[in-house]
Amino acid sequence: MFDNKERTHLDKIGEFGLIDLIHKAVEINEASTIKGIGDDAAVIQHEGKQTLISTDLLLEGIHFDLRYVPLKHLGYKAVQVNLSDIYAMNGIASQITFSIGLSSKFPLEAIEEIYEGAILACKKYGVDLVGGDTSASKQGLVISVTSIGYALAEEVTYRDGAGEGDLIGVSGDLGGAYVGLQLLEREKQIFLENPQVQPDLEGKDYIIERQLKPEARKDIVYLFRELKIKPTAMIDVSDGLASEILHICRQSNKGCRIYEEKIPIDPMTYETARSFNLDPTVCALSGGEDYELLFTIKQADYEKIKGDLDISIIGHITEESAGCSLVSKSGNMHPITAQGWNAF
Ligand code: ADP
Ligand code: MG
Repeated sequence: MFDNKERTHLDKIGEFGLIDLIHKAVEINEASTIKGIGDDAAVIQHEGKQTLISTDLLLEGIHFDLRYVPLKHLGYKAVQVNLSDIYAMNGIASQITFSIGLSSKFPLEAIEEIYEGAILACKKYGVDLVGGDTSASKQGLVISVTSIGYALAEEVTYRDGAGEGDLIGVSGDLGGAYVGLQLLEREKQIFLENPQVQPDLEGKDYIIERQLKPEARKDIVYLFRELKIKPTAMIDVSDGLASEILHICRQSNKGCRIYEEKIPIDPMTYETARSFNLDPTVCALSGGEDYELLFTIKQADYEKIKGDLDISIIGHITEESAGCSLVSKSGNMHPITAQGWNAF
């Protein structure tokens, strides 16, 4: 992947040299950051607010494939995926730590690319990179990101607050990241069989970006504040709509009804799924990695949010004994399972 570039062996600058470079490349902008990189611990002050913390571990070959994930995108996505968890609590992300385990195949230039992506994501989302850890790895690349955020106690939104009759909403559209992954996997196979063939991803930018460069929905958290809406429950869509709505329903001791025709699916996602003989609805239910926000709101809040084109109301919360079901376009009811819906 970095064949045509300069390769500086990490031994040349050493761990401290590397940390120094990272330190110089990051900016501190958040008022709540008292101390960033450079001491034994970062210092953060969230006055009067509750602190939110979330961690993700990403392993090469398990969570990402460097044969089609550019390193800059990897750094960017690692941060986005983690910030998404803070927004899913209805909080504002303010800091991250970013840790890496590196095998000897990675030259300095590769690490610079990863950090370029991570720092870009931080800038765009108003988050300070305040620390991390650096280690050698025997095999493959390891990235771990921890994000830190804050919210007033009454703003923090848990998974267990959904009430009967609440409306179920979702931001953006679903299934795109999964269909984008199918496209990248197909091109990888073609490339492995014949390296002369150039990848054919033309016109598929949107779904490729959904997979490689997701955007956490900070804007939705601000939208709720602007509209004076406190969601009753919220979760981010990392594993697919089906598994996320089941988390909300199980933790809230409720059931739900979701309408297939209301699930937001982008036309490009729809057409590409069809060309792979995939059901676009199943891609939305079981695909995952969309990093949209799935939430429930009180019916009284519907008037405030109904005009927002980026929000879809896809169903409602029921009593627990009614179970969790999907009403198909043809009007049939199907129980929702973590794999999607068991009609298939
Ligand atoms: P320690 O021995 O306490 O782990 P380090 O030398 O690893 O200390 O870290 C020194 C400082 O550099 C700390 O502030 C740490 O958070 C930061 N740091 C180390 N590695 C990274 C990294 N990969 N990215 C960002 N900051 C890092
Ligand atoms: Mg360390």
